[in-house]
Amino acid sequence: MSRAWNFSAGPAALPEAVLKRAQAEMLDWNGSGASVMELSHRGKAFMQLAATAEERLRRLLGVPVGYKVLFLQGGATQHFAQIPMNLAADGDSADYIVTGHWGEKAVREAAPYINARVAGTSEAAHYLDLPPRERWTLDPAASYVHYTPNETIHGVEFHDVPDVGDVPLVADMSSNILSEPVDVAKFGLIYAGAQKNIGPSGLVVMIIRDDLLARKGRPMAKIFRYAEHAANDSMLNTPNTWGWYLAGLTFEWLETQGGLAAMGERNARKAKTLYDAFENSGGFYRSPVAVNARSRMNVPFTLHDSALDAAFLAESEAAGLLALKGHKAVGGMRASLYNAVPQEAVDVLVNFMRDFATKHG
Ligand code: PMP
Repeated sequence: MSRAWNFSAGPAALPEAVLKRAQAEMLDWNGSGASVMELSHRGKAFMQLAATAEERLRRLLGVPVGYKVLFLQGGATQHFAQIPMNLAADGDSADYIVTGHWGEKAVREAAPYINARVAGTSEAAHYLDLPPRERWTLDPAASYVHYTPNETIHGVEFHDVPDVGDVPLVADMSSNILSEPVDVAKFGLIYAGAQKNIGPSGLVVMIIRDDLLARKGRPMAKIFRYAEHAANDSMLNTPNTWGWYLAGLTFEWLETQGGLAAMGERNARKAKTLYDAFENSGGFYRSPVAVNARSRMNVPFTLHDSALDAAFLAESEAAGLLALKGHKAVGGMRASLYNAVPQEAVDVLVNFMRDFATKHG
Protein backbone atom coordinates (compact mmCIF):
# COMPACT_ATOMS: atom_id res chain seq x y z
CA MET A 1 0.00 0.00 0.00
CA SER A 2 1.28 3.46 -0.78
CA ARG A 3 -0.17 6.83 -0.03
CA ALA A 4 -0.87 9.21 -2.88
CA TRP A 5 0.00 12.91 -2.96
CA ASN A 6 -3.37 14.28 -1.96
CA PHE A 7 -4.46 17.74 -3.20
CA SER A 8 -8.08 17.42 -2.07
CA ALA A 9 -9.89 20.64 -1.09
CA GLY A 10 -11.57 18.89 1.83
CA PRO A 11 -11.89 16.56 3.51
CA ALA A 12 -8.20 16.81 2.84
CA ALA A 13 -4.82 15.29 3.58
CA LEU A 14 -4.00 14.81 7.25
CA PRO A 15 -0.43 14.62 8.55
CA GLU A 16 0.81 11.07 8.08
CA ALA A 17 2.32 11.11 11.58
CA VAL A 18 -1.14 11.86 13.00
CA LEU A 19 -2.76 9.00 11.08
CA LYS A 20 -0.06 6.58 12.17
CA ARG A 21 -0.42 7.61 15.78
CA ALA A 22 -4.20 7.18 15.59
CA GLN A 23 -3.68 3.78 13.97
CA ALA A 24 -1.29 2.69 16.72
CA GLU A 25 -3.72 3.85 19.41
CA MET A 26 -6.85 2.58 17.69
CA LEU A 27 -7.52 -0.52 19.77
CA ASP A 28 -6.12 0.66 23.08
CA TRP A 29 -5.96 4.39 23.63
CA ASN A 30 -3.95 5.64 26.58
CA GLY A 31 -3.95 2.23 28.29
CA SER A 32 -7.73 2.34 28.59
CA GLY A 33 -8.30 -1.01 26.82
CA ALA A 34 -10.65 0.71 24.35
CA SER A 35 -10.38 3.09 21.42
CA VAL A 36 -10.92 6.76 22.11
CA MET A 37 -14.21 6.48 20.18
CA GLU A 38 -15.53 3.96 22.69
CA LEU A 39 -15.06 6.00 25.84
CA SER A 40 -17.37 8.41 27.62
CA HIS A 41 -16.78 12.05 26.91
CA ARG A 42 -17.46 12.63 30.59
CA GLY A 43 -14.68 10.30 31.70
CA LYS A 44 -11.53 11.76 33.23
CA ALA A 45 -9.27 10.55 30.41
CA PHE A 46 -11.29 12.14 27.62
CA MET A 47 -11.82 15.36 29.60
CA GLN A 48 -8.05 15.57 29.94
CA LEU A 49 -7.58 14.98 26.22
CA ALA A 50 -10.13 17.69 25.44
CA ALA A 51 -8.48 20.22 27.74
CA THR A 52 -5.03 19.46 26.34
CA ALA A 53 -6.24 19.91 22.77
CA GLU A 54 -7.68 23.30 23.68
CA GLU A 55 -4.47 24.35 25.44
CA ARG A 56 -2.41 23.40 22.41
CA LEU A 57 -4.71 25.33 20.07
CA ARG A 58 -4.57 28.38 22.34
CA ARG A 59 -0.79 28.20 22.38
CA LEU A 60 -0.49 27.76 18.62
CA LEU A 61 -2.73 30.70 17.82
CA GLY A 62 -1.79 32.80 20.84
CA VAL A 63 -5.45 33.14 21.81
CA PRO A 64 -5.65 36.07 24.27
CA VAL A 65 -7.58 35.97 27.52
CA GLY A 66 -11.18 37.02 27.02
CA TYR A 67 -11.86 34.45 24.30
CA LYS A 68 -13.50 31.03 24.62
CA VAL A 69 -12.53 28.11 22.41
CA LEU A 70 -15.41 25.82 21.44
CA PHE A 71 -15.39 22.41 19.77
CA LEU A 72 -18.74 22.21 17.98
CA GLN A 73 -20.55 20.24 15.29
CA GLY A 74 -22.73 21.04 12.29
CA GLY A 75 -20.00 22.03 9.85
CA ALA A 76 -19.22 25.62 8.98
CA THR A 77 -22.53 25.76 7.11
CA GLN A 78 -24.62 25.33 10.23
CA HIS A 79 -22.73 28.21 11.80
CA PHE A 80 -23.54 30.44 8.83
CA ALA A 81 -27.04 30.33 10.38
CA GLN A 82 -26.11 30.01 14.04
CA ILE A 83 -23.77 33.01 14.14
CA PRO A 84 -26.52 35.53 13.28
CA MET A 85 -28.87 33.78 15.72
CA ASN A 86 -26.35 34.31 18.51
CA LEU A 87 -24.89 37.70 17.64
CA ALA A 88 -27.89 39.65 16.42
CA ALA A 89 -31.41 40.30 17.64
CA ASP A 90 -34.48 40.18 15.45
CA GLY A 91 -34.39 43.11 13.02
CA ASP A 92 -30.64 43.74 13.41
CA SER A 93 -28.37 43.82 10.43
CA ALA A 94 -24.86 42.52 9.75
CA ASP A 95 -22.39 43.31 6.99
CA TYR A 96 -21.02 40.61 4.71
CA ILE A 97 -17.98 40.87 2.49
CA VAL A 98 -18.52 38.32 -0.25
CA THR A 99 -15.48 37.07 -2.14
CA GLY A 100 -16.67 33.69 -3.37
CA HIS A 101 -19.00 30.74 -3.05
CA TRP A 102 -18.76 30.35 0.74
CA GLY A 103 -19.36 34.00 1.48
CA GLU A 104 -22.44 33.87 -0.75
CA LYS A 105 -23.68 30.87 1.16
CA ALA A 106 -23.04 32.57 4.49
CA VAL A 107 -25.31 35.43 3.38
CA ARG A 108 -28.03 33.05 2.22
CA GLU A 109 -28.04 31.07 5.46
CA ALA A 110 -28.05 34.23 7.60
CA ALA A 111 -30.92 35.84 5.68
CA PRO A 112 -33.79 34.10 7.55
CA TYR A 113 -32.54 35.63 10.82
CA ILE A 114 -31.12 39.06 10.08
CA ASN A 115 -30.75 41.69 7.46
CA ALA A 116 -27.58 40.30 5.86
CA ARG A 117 -26.19 43.28 3.92
CA VAL A 118 -23.58 42.73 1.26
CA ALA A 119 -21.17 45.56 2.08
CA GLY A 120 -18.51 44.52 -0.40
CA THR A 121 -18.36 41.95 -3.16
CA SER A 122 -16.11 40.84 -5.98
CA GLU A 123 -18.96 39.15 -7.84
CA ALA A 124 -18.39 41.44 -10.84
CA ALA A 125 -14.83 40.06 -11.03
CA HIS A 126 -16.28 36.53 -10.93
CA TYR A 127 -14.72 36.24 -7.47
CA LEU A 128 -11.26 36.03 -8.95
CA ASP A 129 -10.15 39.19 -7.15
CA LEU A 130 -10.86 40.93 -3.84
CA PRO A 131 -13.10 43.99 -3.56
CA PRO A 132 -10.92 47.03 -2.69
CA ARG A 133 -11.37 47.97 0.95
CA GLU A 134 -12.15 51.62 0.09
CA ARG A 135 -15.26 50.51 -1.80
CA TRP A 136 -16.81 48.63 1.10
CA THR A 137 -19.92 50.32 2.44
CA LEU A 138 -19.70 49.27 6.07
CA ASP A 139 -22.47 50.23 8.46
CA PRO A 140 -21.07 51.32 11.85
CA ALA A 141 -24.29 50.04 13.45
CA ALA A 142 -23.93 46.52 12.05
CA SER A 143 -23.96 43.64 14.56
CA TYR A 144 -20.77 42.28 12.99
CA VAL A 145 -18.81 42.14 9.73
CA HIS A 146 -18.48 38.64 8.26
CA TYR A 147 -15.86 37.65 5.69
CA THR A 148 -14.10 34.59 4.33
CA PRO A 149 -10.32 35.09 4.59
CA ASN A 150 -9.77 32.24 2.14
CA GLU A 151 -12.31 31.20 -0.47
CA THR A 152 -11.70 27.50 -1.04
CA ILE A 153 -13.34 27.21 -4.45
CA HIS A 154 -12.27 30.46 -6.09
CA GLY A 155 -8.78 30.38 -4.57
CA VAL A 156 -8.74 33.98 -3.35
CA GLU A 157 -7.24 34.92 -0.01
CA PHE A 158 -6.91 38.09 2.04
CA HIS A 159 -3.27 38.61 2.94
CA ASP A 160 -4.10 41.13 5.66
CA VAL A 161 -6.85 41.35 8.22
CA PRO A 162 -9.20 44.13 7.07
CA ASP A 163 -9.77 47.06 9.39
CA VAL A 164 -13.49 47.32 10.08
CA GLY A 165 -13.36 49.75 12.98
CA ASP A 166 -15.20 48.90 16.16
CA VAL A 167 -17.67 46.45 14.66
CA PRO A 168 -16.69 42.86 15.59
CA LEU A 169 -15.03 40.99 12.75
CA VAL A 170 -16.26 37.43 12.14
CA ALA A 171 -14.10 35.16 9.98
CA ASP A 172 -14.86 31.84 8.34
CA MET A 173 -11.33 30.43 8.44
CA SER A 174 -12.35 26.94 7.36
CA SER A 175 -9.68 26.70 4.69
CA ASN A 176 -6.80 28.74 6.11
CA ILE A 177 -6.86 28.40 9.89
CA LEU A 178 -3.48 27.39 11.34
CA SER A 179 -1.75 28.00 8.00
CA GLU A 180 0.24 30.98 9.36
CA PRO A 181 0.27 33.14 12.50
CA VAL A 182 -2.79 35.34 12.98
CA ASP A 183 -3.55 38.11 15.47
CA VAL A 184 -6.66 36.70 17.13
CA ALA A 185 -7.22 39.98 19.00
CA LYS A 186 -8.34 41.56 15.71
CA PHE A 187 -11.35 39.24 15.56
CA GLY A 188 -14.58 38.94 17.46
CA LEU A 189 -15.19 35.41 16.25
CA ILE A 190 -13.19 32.90 14.23
CA TYR A 191 -14.69 29.60 13.13
CA ALA A 192 -13.54 26.75 10.94
CA GLY A 193 -14.80 23.40 9.76
CA ALA A 194 -12.07 20.95 10.73
CA GLN A 195 -11.70 19.00 7.50
CA LYS A 196 -8.81 20.94 5.98
CA ASN A 197 -6.15 22.01 8.46
CA ILE A 198 -7.49 20.51 11.70
CA GLY A 199 -8.79 16.96 11.40
CA PRO A 200 -11.74 14.97 10.10
CA SER A 201 -15.06 16.53 9.10
CA GLY A 202 -17.86 16.75 11.65
CA LEU A 203 -16.03 19.13 13.97
CA VAL A 204 -16.05 22.93 14.03
CA VAL A 205 -13.55 24.93 16.04
CA MET A 206 -14.73 28.36 17.19
CA ILE A 207 -12.86 31.12 18.99
CA ILE A 208 -15.28 33.69 20.32
CA ARG A 209 -14.75 36.84 22.35
CA ASP A 210 -16.55 37.02 25.68
CA ASP A 211 -18.59 40.14 24.85
CA LEU A 212 -20.04 38.37 21.80
CA LEU A 213 -20.78 35.29 23.87
CA ALA A 214 -22.73 37.55 26.24
CA ARG A 215 -25.00 38.88 23.48
CA LYS A 216 -28.59 37.86 23.86
CA GLY A 217 -29.16 37.12 20.18
CA ARG A 218 -32.63 35.90 19.31
CA PRO A 219 -34.88 33.38 21.06
CA MET A 220 -33.55 29.92 20.31
CA ALA A 221 -33.18 26.46 21.76
CA LYS A 222 -30.34 26.00 24.21
CA ILE A 223 -28.47 23.69 21.85
CA PHE A 224 -27.95 26.57 19.40
CA ARG A 225 -26.63 29.01 21.99
CA TYR A 226 -22.85 29.40 22.03
CA ALA A 227 -22.88 30.67 25.61
CA GLU A 228 -24.43 27.35 26.70
CA HIS A 229 -21.74 25.41 24.86
CA ALA A 230 -19.08 27.58 26.48
CA ALA A 231 -20.58 27.16 29.95
CA ASN A 232 -20.48 23.39 29.43
CA ASP A 233 -16.94 23.21 27.98
CA SER A 234 -18.38 22.17 24.59
CA MET A 235 -20.00 19.14 26.23
CA LEU A 236 -23.58 20.34 26.30
CA ASN A 237 -24.28 17.12 24.42
CA THR A 238 -21.99 14.38 23.15
CA PRO A 239 -19.21 16.02 21.17
CA ASN A 240 -17.39 14.55 18.19
CA THR A 241 -14.87 12.77 20.40
CA TRP A 242 -12.97 11.19 17.51
CA GLY A 243 -12.64 14.52 15.72
CA TRP A 244 -11.53 16.25 18.92
CA TYR A 245 -8.90 13.56 19.48
CA LEU A 246 -7.52 13.86 15.95
CA ALA A 247 -7.58 17.66 16.17
CA GLY A 248 -5.51 17.38 19.35
CA LEU A 249 -3.00 15.13 17.57
CA THR A 250 -2.80 17.63 14.69
CA PHE A 251 -2.19 20.50 17.12
CA GLU A 252 0.58 18.46 18.75
CA TRP A 253 2.08 17.73 15.33
CA LEU A 254 2.00 21.44 14.48
CA GLU A 255 3.93 22.18 17.65
CA THR A 256 6.60 19.64 16.70
CA GLN A 257 6.81 21.29 13.25
CA GLY A 258 7.73 24.64 14.79
CA GLY A 259 4.27 26.14 15.14
CA LEU A 260 2.46 28.52 12.84
CA ALA A 261 5.44 30.70 11.92
CA ALA A 262 7.17 27.64 10.46
CA MET A 263 3.97 26.50 8.77
CA GLY A 264 3.50 29.97 7.30
CA GLU A 265 6.96 29.87 5.73
CA ARG A 266 6.42 26.38 4.34
CA ASN A 267 3.01 27.23 2.98
CA ALA A 268 4.34 30.36 1.27
CA ARG A 269 7.12 28.33 -0.34
CA LYS A 270 4.74 25.58 -1.51
CA ALA A 271 2.40 28.12 -3.09
CA LYS A 272 5.30 29.98 -4.72
CA THR A 273 6.57 26.74 -6.24
CA LEU A 274 3.24 26.17 -7.93
CA TYR A 275 2.52 29.75 -9.03
CA ASP A 276 6.07 29.99 -10.42
CA ALA A 277 5.44 26.81 -12.39
CA PHE A 278 2.50 28.54 -14.12
CA GLU A 279 4.69 31.58 -14.90
CA ASN A 280 7.41 29.35 -16.32
CA SER A 281 5.09 27.20 -18.43
CA GLY A 282 5.06 29.49 -21.44
CA GLY A 283 1.30 29.92 -21.13
CA PHE A 284 0.51 26.20 -20.90
CA TYR A 285 -0.85 26.68 -17.36
CA ARG A 286 -2.33 29.79 -15.85
CA SER A 287 -3.94 31.01 -12.67
CA PRO A 288 -7.25 32.81 -13.27
CA VAL A 289 -6.89 34.70 -9.96
CA ALA A 290 -5.59 38.28 -9.65
CA VAL A 291 -1.98 38.20 -8.45
CA ASN A 292 -2.53 39.98 -5.12
CA ALA A 293 -5.54 37.85 -4.25
CA ARG A 294 -3.97 34.44 -4.86
CA SER A 295 -4.53 31.87 -2.16
CA ARG A 296 -1.71 29.90 -0.58
CA MET A 297 -4.09 27.09 0.30
CA ASN A 298 -6.24 26.50 -2.79
CA VAL A 299 -4.71 27.05 -6.18
CA PRO A 300 -7.06 26.84 -9.17
CA PHE A 301 -5.42 26.72 -12.58
CA THR A 302 -6.37 26.16 -16.18
CA LEU A 303 -4.66 24.45 -19.08
CA HIS A 304 -4.25 26.49 -22.24
CA ASP A 305 -6.58 24.04 -23.99
CA SER A 306 -9.45 22.64 -21.91
CA ALA A 307 -9.62 19.67 -24.31
CA LEU A 308 -6.55 18.41 -22.39
CA ASP A 309 -8.28 18.49 -19.00
CA ALA A 310 -9.42 14.86 -19.09
CA ALA A 311 -5.95 13.63 -20.04
CA PHE A 312 -4.37 15.78 -17.31
CA LEU A 313 -6.67 14.31 -14.69
CA ALA A 314 -6.24 10.71 -15.84
CA GLU A 315 -2.46 10.96 -16.12
CA SER A 316 -2.02 12.81 -12.83
CA GLU A 317 -4.11 10.25 -10.99
CA ALA A 318 -2.11 7.42 -12.57
CA ALA A 319 1.02 9.21 -11.32
CA GLY A 320 -0.33 9.15 -7.74
CA LEU A 321 -1.52 12.77 -7.65
CA LEU A 322 -5.03 12.83 -6.21
CA ALA A 323 -8.00 15.19 -6.47
CA LEU A 324 -6.75 17.84 -8.88
CA LYS A 325 -10.10 18.39 -10.58
CA GLY A 326 -11.25 21.97 -10.15
CA HIS A 327 -14.66 22.97 -8.83
CA LYS A 328 -17.24 23.39 -11.57
CA ALA A 329 -17.72 27.05 -10.57
CA VAL A 330 -14.18 27.84 -11.77
CA GLY A 331 -13.38 24.90 -14.05
CA GLY A 332 -9.94 23.52 -14.84
CA MET A 333 -7.85 22.20 -11.98
CA ARG A 334 -7.31 23.01 -8.34
CA ALA A 335 -4.48 21.95 -6.07
CA SER A 336 -5.10 22.41 -2.35
CA LEU A 337 -1.90 22.85 -0.37
CA TYR A 338 -2.95 22.57 3.27
CA ASN A 339 -0.51 22.08 6.13
CA ALA A 340 -0.35 18.31 5.71
CA VAL A 341 0.68 18.56 2.05
CA PRO A 342 4.50 18.57 2.06
CA GLN A 343 6.79 20.53 -0.25
CA GLU A 344 7.72 17.19 -1.83
CA ALA A 345 4.13 16.74 -3.03
CA VAL A 346 4.24 20.13 -4.74
CA ASP A 347 7.60 19.33 -6.30
CA VAL A 348 6.21 16.06 -7.66
CA LEU A 349 3.17 17.92 -9.02
CA VAL A 350 5.27 20.59 -10.70
CA ASN A 351 7.50 17.95 -12.32
CA PHE A 352 4.45 16.08 -13.54
CA MET A 353 3.04 19.31 -14.98
CA ARG A 354 6.28 20.06 -16.80
CA ASP A 355 6.38 16.55 -18.32
CA PHE A 356 2.71 16.76 -19.26
CA ALA A 357 3.24 20.10 -21.01
CA THR A 358 6.19 18.69 -22.95
CA LYS A 359 4.22 15.64 -23.99
CA HIS A 360 1.07 17.53 -25.00
CA GLY A 361 2.58 20.87 -25.98
N1 PMP B 1 -16.54 27.71 4.42
C1 PMP B 1 -15.46 27.40 3.67
C2 PMP B 1 -14.40 28.45 3.45
C3 PMP B 1 -15.34 26.12 3.12
O1 PMP B 1 -14.28 25.79 2.39
C4 PMP B 1 -16.37 25.18 3.34
C5 PMP B 1 -16.29 23.81 2.72
N2 PMP B 1 -15.49 22.96 3.38
C6 PMP B 1 -17.47 25.55 4.12
C7 PMP B 1 -17.51 26.82 4.64
C8 PMP B 1 -18.58 24.58 4.41
O2 PMP B 1 -18.14 23.66 5.33
P1 PMP B 1 -19.04 22.45 5.83
O3 PMP B 1 -19.20 21.53 4.68
O4 PMP B 1 -18.21 21.88 6.95
O5 PMP B 1 -20.33 22.99 6.30
